[in-house]
Amino acid sequence: MTENYLYFLDNKPYINMTNACTNRCVFCVRNQKEDVQGAKLWLNSDNAVSKDVIKQLDENKNKIISAGEIVFCGYGEPLVKIDEVVDICKYLKANYSNLKIRINTNGHANYIHKRNVAPELAPYVDSISISLNGETEEIYNKISNPQIENAYEEVKRFIRACVEEKIPTTASIVVDVPDFPVNKERCEVIAKSLGAKFRAREFIPNGY
Ligand code: SF4
Repeated sequence: MTENYLYFLDNKPYINMTNACTNRCVFCVRNQKEDVQGAKLWLNSDNAVSKDVIKQLDENKNKIISAGEIVFCGYGEPLVKIDEVVDICKYLKANYSNLKIRINTNGHANYIHKRNVAPELAPYVDSISISLNGETEEIYNKISNPQIENAYEEVKRFIRACVEEKIPTTASIVVDVPDFPVNKERCEVIAKSLGAKFRAREFIPNGY
């Protein structure tokens, strides 16, 4: 069965690398549906290899280039697959003229891989959006249900690591999630103090 490593939302391309994630966010689209606009994003196996993803990209090359930007964002945390992500980024930068690359991430990558991966991403990635998700560790834990230790500090450290590598970095939150209020102003102060831009995204019931 074909895996959907590539999907489109409003004609914008997204790369879906894995089912694995170290969070269990209360707003995660995975809790709500198995597909995004008809594309089934649960992968049958979690062994995505770069060449299979690249093959799907190449089959849609013109559409991807005309979109101007591609985003690593699927049903799992893309940076679980750091080696494959870097491979694919290198390929895109060499073969897809002027295509911008963004990564949406939960910010746990340095914990997962036990090394600082920001320098590996910096040569290829045009922007990175990291889920800050709350103004305190307590709120972060309620919203994100992290499966790793000290996740909130890890996220803040990863934001700083990306900023230090001069990757345009945005710290994001989701507002208006029922029963999970977040203080937007305090989150913005934290994002700025880490050197990142800030984005508050509205919760969309039932996914995208
Ligand atoms: S980090 Fe993303 S993929 Fe993981 S649970 Fe949260 S919303 Fe879902």
